[in-house]
Amino acid sequence: MAELRASLLAALDERAPRVDRDRVAACFDFAAQAHGGQRRMSGEPFVSHSVAVCLILLDLLDARLDTPLACAALLHDVVEDTDVPIADVEKRFGREVAGLVEGVTKLAGLHFDSREAEQAENFRKMLLSMSRDLRVIFIKLADRLHNMRTIEFLPPPKIQRISVETRDIYAPLAHRLGMAGIKREFEDLSLKVLDSGAYQELARRIQTRRAERETFLAGVRLRLEEGLRAAGIKAEVMGRPKHFYSIYAKMRAGRDFESIYDLFGLRIVVHTRNDCYRALGVVHDRFTPVADRFKDYIATPKSNMYQSLHTTVLTEAGEMVEVQIRTREMHRTAETGIAAHYVYKQGGRVDEELDAKLGGFVAQTADWQRTTSDDEYMDFLRTALYQEEVFAYTPRRELKRLPKGATPLDFAFLIHTEVGQHTVGARVNGELVPLRYELRNGDTVEIITSPQAQPHDDWLQFLRTAGARTKVRHWLRQRRHADSVALGREMLERELKRLRHRPEEAALEEAAKALGCADLETLHARLAEGQLSITQVVRRLVPEKEGFAERLAKGPLEALGIARKEAGGIRVQGLDNVMVSFARCCQPVPGDRVVGIVTLGRGVSVHRQDCPNTFGDRVAPERRVPVDWHSGPGETFPVRLVVYGHDRTSLLADIAKAIAATAVNIRTAGMASEDQTARGVFVVEVQHLAKLQEVMGAIRKVKGVSRVDRRQRLIRPSHPRRAAGEA
Ligand code: MN
Repeated sequence: MAELRASLLAALDERAPRVDRDRVAACFDFAAQAHGGQRRMSGEPFVSHSVAVCLILLDLLDARLDTPLACAALLHDVVEDTDVPIADVEKRFGREVAGLVEGVTKLAGLHFDSREAEQAENFRKMLLSMSRDLRVIFIKLADRLHNMRTIEFLPPPKIQRISVETRDIYAPLAHRLGMAGIKREFEDLSLKVLDSGAYQELARRIQTRRAERETFLAGVRLRLEEGLRAAGIKAEVMGRPKHFYSIYAKMRAGRDFESIYDLFGLRIVVHTRNDCYRALGVVHDRFTPVADRFKDYIATPKSNMYQSLHTTVLTEAGEMVEVQIRTREMHRTAETGIAAHYVYKQGGRVDEELDAKLGGFVAQTADWQRTTSDDEYMDFLRTALYQEEVFAYTPRRELKRLPKGATPLDFAFLIHTEVGQHTVGARVNGELVPLRYELRNGDTVEIITSPQAQPHDDWLQFLRTAGARTKVRHWLRQRRHADSVALGREMLERELKRLRHRPEEAALEEAAKALGCADLETLHARLAEGQLSITQVVRRLVPEKEGFAERLAKGPLEALGIARKEAGGIRVQGLDNVMVSFARCCQPVPGDRVVGIVTLGRGVSVHRQDCPNTFGDRVAPERRVPVDWHSGPGETFPVRLVVYGHDRTSLLADIAKAIAATAVNIRTAGMASEDQTARGVFVVEVQHLAKLQEVMGAIRKVKGVSRVDRRQRLIRPSHPRRAAGEA
């Protein structure tokens, strides 16, 4: 124990001299006493874990490790695992240290293997604590790292759960915060547990190839060092750490081991940004660069702050080597991300400048926390945490950063919501592409919009950015609502018209409130969605007259004093058995577009919609009712046809023959002529419009016939009944 204490203090003295060693020593003693006889599953005294966490933080921050953070690291499990209350920690070590310990203790209870909603909530809590004090996340990640390093001592179900959580939650979070070193270790340690067979196999294959590959790289390295020296560039050339998980993931995606492993190349670390580009010149001078493999992440840092030049070159023997070039500072950022930019004077707060380097990740998560549903929040996190990026340009060469797999439509929404919503097409590098095209690095994207264009449901299937998906969902919800409102309004207005009732706007609003709707619009929407029935609404609006409610209950036509009667062929407002007659003025047949006119005492008279007797002011709007054809197979309808033609002998007989050939019944036929012009009238009985058209077509083909019309006559409005009875 004394040894452990001494080695910790020595390490701090050496690498973080600013840290108050007396306070840290006091924390060590306090933690050692609090954990007392507790041991880790490995058999070591518990406090060895606290020390290990503190040392991981020292690796992460070096001289920037501050006293409160070092203290809190040592005390991080005191409240969670012993009966020491947080108040004691605060009394002994102050508010700042206690606040950090409290933050970590709260996170300890969060598990991420639960239902989506709970998972979202736990994520929110974790990210919220991060936005308040970054150091809580540092301790949490260091704690998890040490637990993963010693995971083999835990019982198997716990090993499984913790490894999955590490791979799915903590590794992506570390990645998003730019902490590549920790991320790499998280992924490799969890892979070792979760697919140990694949892990061992990879280890074996890497071992087999190692000597050969290292000899080869040593040769390349020598030539590069020579070249850099000759160019007067101070640089360090080194190998790159193996990352099992990334090889594993690429193999799972179908690539073969050799081609991936061979790419593990060299890294050149120089002093200045300018030296990076000069070093690149040396690399390209000594070896042939592979086209399309150069990436400048210095000019365009990744959203987790990563900066480097990447290039792949070919040796004379035809072997490929990937070379990364960066400054020492960029290297630190590449390995420790946000930790490289942490300074104690901010306390633990992530300030705007720091967050901007992360592409606003912390502020965004705070925003999202307030405004979204759990589903949308997880959706957002999946994009924000898990996805790789792709860079594309606007036609004006503005760079846009999108998640990998993003489409031109995502790009459009990134430019502006208005652009996204009105997108009809896209050109990538001058070529028209489908909206679901997957963007590639360096693509120049031109969005084609139209003011009439609107978002589609199926956009949700290929939009990758959470922001765009949320906007489209929101838009679709609003449109559905608007549709419901319009339909509901129409339903209610039609019903009220039929009841000859015209309530004031105020009465409508009042009825809406009485039925529990916030406003009239809500009432309309609920009507359309079937959450309210039209009867419920009408009862609120139509004053109860004598006996009227009873009549209304029987149906609106009864309310008008119309008796039910057996009648075939037509359905009025979905009601069967209403007294129906067919207007003689226009003689509709099934297939004609028809309208019902309520007549006093004679039920509903069915007219063709183009019948002049139903036009405009001839019929009061409230007398119109929608009707549908509903005829049985055997029913026929009489139609009077008027035929004009050039008079000749046997014209009448030929027309009658033509009609008979279509197998319809002729009820009456007659013909008269005057001045070589013949006019005939035929009443035929047909089942439907198609048959009638067949008959009319057959008549037209008869030699000498110039025209066939259905009878259409205007009834004089003052004597409607007599006029109708006339035919
Ligand atoms: Mn711990």
